[in-house]
Amino acid sequence: MAYSTGDVIFSCEPWVYSVNADQADERCHRCLASPLATGTDLIVCPGCGYAKYCSQFCSDEDLELRHRLECSSMKNLNTSGYGDIIPTDILLAIRILIRLQSGNSDKCVVTGRSFESLMAHEKDLLADSSRLEEIRFFYSILTSEVLQNFPNFSLDFTLFVQVMGKLQCNAFG
Ligand SMILES: [Zn+2]
Ligand SMILES: [Zn+2]
Repeated sequence: MAYSTGDVIFSCEPWVYSVNADQADERCHRCLASPLATGTDLIVCPGCGYAKYCSQFCSDEDLELRHRLECSSMKNLNTSGYGDIIPTDILLAIRILIRLQSGNSDKCVVTGRSFESLMAHEKDLLADSSRLEEIRFFYSILTSEVLQNFPNFSLDFTLFVQVMGKLQCNAFG
């Protein structure tokens, strides 16, 4: 079978995704569109003031599927001195928590792999002192501002290192 440049040979919904932190003010939190180019204002979530949407449809659907659970966490982060930009890894970690706490260990319909089966290479992470320092910082942010919103889920540091390792090994942007 011959393929040409630009042919789609594989597509799959992401298990989790997030707007890159440095584009959070210009892209829709759900569909990632950038309507500012056409002069359309984004709708700001009144709960957290962080998530922004291109349309009422995107706002309503994201609230229903994901954002209701992350909104109070983002409000805490947005008002707790972590600056205007919440690190992308934290945004993704919150969305991973949402899926893990729901017991939703569903598998990719294309590859058959689950989040649990992904490689984390946590020993390599733990041996990298600068990366380890960053992970400790992210973990302190989560424990002080986010985890109270997930009372039925315990995220100890060992599990968080695995989550960050899986993000580092498997995420792309
Ligand atoms: Zn949208
Ligand atoms: Zn919100």
